[in-house]
Amino acid sequence: MRNSLIERISIHEAGHAVAALVFGIPVVSVTIEHQPHLHRGRYRAPPDLALECLVTLCLAGPEAEREFCGPITDNSDRVDYQMACEYVARQLNPLQIGAEFSGYRDAAQRLVPFAICTPPYFRARGRPVAA
Ligand SMILES: [Zn+2]
Repeated sequence: MRNSLIERISIHEAGHAVAALVFGIPVVSVTIEHQPHLHRGRYRAPPDLALECLVTLCLAGPEAEREFCGPITDNSDRVDYQMACEYVARQLNPLQIGAEFSGYRDAAQRLVPFAICTPPYFRARGRPVAA
């Protein structure tokens, strides 16, 4: 798969956006210009779900990029992994981090293709929704 940089960035940010929609995390804005990012709104999930939702949201961008564009070779996933690690490290002890992080990455891998291909996150013409 060969995609232009702007296509990769769009798919990456769409991955974050669909994860936010699935988890009910408010999206203030999503941009692919200058510093591409999703700006989420204030989010209060039940305490037992908040960590999973936020970490999966972080990892959904890189997973969307991998799923639809192929391996990431330019470290475009670095910031997302760093943020996900910070969320995990705040709430888990070092012995829990590896297993839990792996589970969140698996959740993001499963969520992205499902959410992008499932109404209402999918437009009629077959293009992922990029808010
Ligand atoms: Zn990202």
